[in-house]
Amino acid sequence: MAGESANDVVIVGGGIAGSALAIVLARAGRAVTVLERDREPVDRVRGEFMAPWGVVELRRLGLLDLLVGAGGVFARLNIPYDENMPGEKALPFTFDLSKVIPDIDGAFCMGHPAMCRTLAAEAGRLGVAFRRGVEQVQVTAGAPPMVGFTHDGVRTEWRPRLVVGADGRNSAVRHQLAMKTLADPPHNLLGGMLVEGVPDWPQDIEVIGTEDRTHFLVFPQGGDRVRLYLCYDFADKALYAGADRRQKLIDTFAGLRCLPQAGMIAASRPIGPFNSYSNEDHWVEDPTAPGVVLIGDAAGHNDPITGQGLSIALRDVRLVSEIILAGKYDRSSFRPYVEERLERMRRLRITARYVATLRAEFGEEARRRRGRALRRVFVDKMPSPMPAALIGPEKLPAACFEPSTVEALLAP
Ligand SMILES: Cc1cc2nc3c(=O)[nH]c(=O)nc-3n(C[C@H](O)[C@H](O)[C@H](O)COP(=O)(O)OP(=O)(O)OC[C@H]3O[C@@H](n4cnc5c(N)ncnc54)[C@H](O)[C@@H]3O)c2cc1C
Repeated sequence: MAGESANDVVIVGGGIAGSALAIVLARAGRAVTVLERDREPVDRVRGEFMAPWGVVELRRLGLLDLLVGAGGVFARLNIPYDENMPGEKALPFTFDLSKVIPDIDGAFCMGHPAMCRTLAAEAGRLGVAFRRGVEQVQVTAGAPPMVGFTHDGVRTEWRPRLVVGADGRNSAVRHQLAMKTLADPPHNLLGGMLVEGVPDWPQDIEVIGTEDRTHFLVFPQGGDRVRLYLCYDFADKALYAGADRRQKLIDTFAGLRCLPQAGMIAASRPIGPFNSYSNEDHWVEDPTAPGVVLIGDAAGHNDPITGQGLSIALRDVRLVSEIILAGKYDRSSFRPYVEERLERMRRLRITARYVATLRAEFGEEARRRRGRALRRVFVDKMPSPMPAALIGPEKLPAACFEPSTVEALLAP
């Protein structure tokens, strides 16, 4: 079936970015269809920690209460257990995430499939046509653009005012429009897994540290669940391969000498896959084409080591929705979004690379370097890009992202 579409906007991908955008547009009376590949949200190991600056975006979009009501929790304290600061030695360095941004209770933690399910249900309630199990989406740029797809065996082609590509890191829309994707070299692997059976984990505490050959992160997920993340070297890939890889991950956490709660994790049970990804950034210089704009991971993703992807996606949603709701659909109207995103991603790329160098390189000299960098920031008050990952990249002076700043922090 081909023809005009009653839709103002067709969104390809109903994850965090696509569903959030659909809600914001539908609330303002725009006719929206979401084309989603998965019949049900799947745990592919994606973001489950949202930085405080992302929580600001969530609140500005009017979505925070919805997700809190669906079971999200706030991590208010970060304890930096580390081989440099094992056990009680870390406690004086506990960081209060609820004091980072006024009126924001900390970092928001919630399962990714649960977030997607909640947002999709709200979009549906507001009248968004949320089609699941869509296949063979094909987008052609133009004024108007064209989007074709197959759903329940029926091929449809529409010409809406705008197509939004929100189909994630391997975006088919981005490939179809031949947008050149840039990437920096991979630095390490990052894997994650959801576990349950940790009833005594304090649900307002997250943990981030490094010991031996692993950089580890633990985020509360509500109830007796926590999300485990591990960064490890490509050379150690075989250690986390094989049919028993999920148990290997638990064993690594169980063996952490610096983490007082290691025994709790030893007794946990996996309730999702353990998937690992290489951590490099990917970006496109202009995620627009006539009649098409990309948002979220589809427009390029940051190294997950600093957990920025959800916040990035929500900022994209806000900026793009503001343009659409001003009644502008032409490519040139999205220019402010494109320019802001390019600089935002550049700053977050520098931040993530600094963090990966500091926390996901291993051995004696790397351990000493972490200690030196900590002293330089907290005692000598040297500038650092790291706060960008909490308060937002635009909130720091440009000098924090200069190569000389990073070199000074990492210097012997
Ligand atoms: C290991 C790992 C850990 C991470 N940890 C964090 C973290 O702690 N904090 C954080 O903020 N970010 C984190 N991220 C990043 C975060 O998950 C993403 O940035 C975020 O999910 C992006 O949202 P999105 O909606 O753009 O993409 P996604 O959430 O990936 O959603 C894309 C949607 O599009 C659908 N889709 C895909 N292809 C098609 C198609 N052809 N047709 C129709 N639909 C399609 C998918 O099914 C999916 O529903 C992590 C990422 C990884 C890989």
